[in-house]
Amino acid sequence: MNAEIIAVGSELLTPLRQDTNSLYLTEKLNELGVEVRFKSIVGDEREGLVAAAKLAMRRSDIIIFSGGLGPTEDDLTREAVAEALGLKLNRDPQLLAKLEERFAKRGMKMSANNLKQADILASAAVLPNTLGTAPGQWISGKYDGQERILLLLPGPPYELKTMFDAECISRLRAKIPPQHIARRILKIALMPESQVDARVSPLYKAYTDVETTILAGAGEIQLHFRCRKPSQSEAEARVEELAGKIEDELGDAIFSRKGETIEQIVSYLLQMRGMTLAVAESCTGGLLAERITSLSGSSRYFLGGAVVYSNELKTQFANVPKTLIDKHGAVSREVAAAMAEGIRKRCLSSYGVGITGVAGPTGGTDQKPVGLVYIALAGDEGTQVVERNFPGDRKRIRTFATQQALEMIRRALL
Ligand code: AMP
Ligand code: MG
Repeated sequence: MNAEIIAVGSELLTPLRQDTNSLYLTEKLNELGVEVRFKSIVGDEREGLVAAAKLAMRRSDIIIFSGGLGPTEDDLTREAVAEALGLKLNRDPQLLAKLEERFAKRGMKMSANNLKQADILASAAVLPNTLGTAPGQWISGKYDGQERILLLLPGPPYELKTMFDAECISRLRAKIPPQHIARRILKIALMPESQVDARVSPLYKAYTDVETTILAGAGEIQLHFRCRKPSQSEAEARVEELAGKIEDELGDAIFSRKGETIEQIVSYLLQMRGMTLAVAESCTGGLLAERITSLSGSSRYFLGGAVVYSNELKTQFANVPKTLIDKHGAVSREVAAAMAEGIRKRCLSSYGVGITGVAGPTGGTDQKPVGLVYIALAGDEGTQVVERNFPGDRKRIRTFATQQALEMIRRALL
């Protein structure tokens, strides 16, 4: 079964408020084995809501509206859904009495616009709201010959969550054939998306019952697999089988099989080998140290290091000979290597990393363009330096550079 979520509220179309309700609902629906195929955000305007409701009723089995059930002029979900489905709205006397009671308890008089919160769509079941004034509504039945479930839920996230958990999950479970979803994520560092896809697409195309998505970020490709089956074990077995074939194909290029970040993998490996790390960063300005130390417990393997932005500090803190900088320039293979070796020696760590490059957007030349970065790793086995021309803006180039460093450490520890 497929679901569609319609988040109602003009504030959700501004940069000031985010639609988080649909994330919650998606998670819960997935747990029920229901796929969310469409999500939309519609402002507080009747015409748009009617159109959204009509479209959803044509294409989705389960339609969930969030928001627009309040007492004010701009709360229009009830009226719009009634119009779209051709249903009457009836004022429910019991609900009305409850609303009045609620206000009376607080010594307040109910205002006239609260009345419409007692308006219920013909054939709808009322979903009590224990935390607010807007009850939810549940409709299920045939619409143009198709079986449909339609839910109206209040917008405030704590009201929506409480109502969905208490009133909707068991009702939905009773209506939905048992379905289970299994998921797997594989992560690959620093391989172009096209190259990954060329190697893995023949494999995943053979699994038509597993949905595969490729997501690309700065220096990281993620392969997401999802499979829906009547039992969890069947679904798990299918994603496991496909993931296994892809692991065979890509081998060591895959750094994560359970959703771990590359920092976490480097952390496991360093601890497993009882090794330590120190860094000397120029163009990344401490970003590598920040990524490594974002993990609790990183003091077990990360000793520290230095942000050596100026040439003087490269010499002073990372022992880079001044003559080397004069001869090759601060952005060079030689200086990166010297930074890694120098910081390793000064910090007495198992590994030392040196990063120097042009993060841009200014400062590039013909010989040393923006995006040129040297990343060095020094250890007992010697020093390796990688030269890369990273694409993108300053932020992306810096992220790429730290990703490259983490990947080099990971590979060295394998
Ligand atoms: P409403 O039921 O439309 O009156 O919404 C009440 C409040 O809940 C709004 O002021 C929003 O801040 C919040 N809200 C509504 N819809 C959402 C949503 N989809 N995600 C998160 N918060 C929401
Ligand atoms: Mg609203």
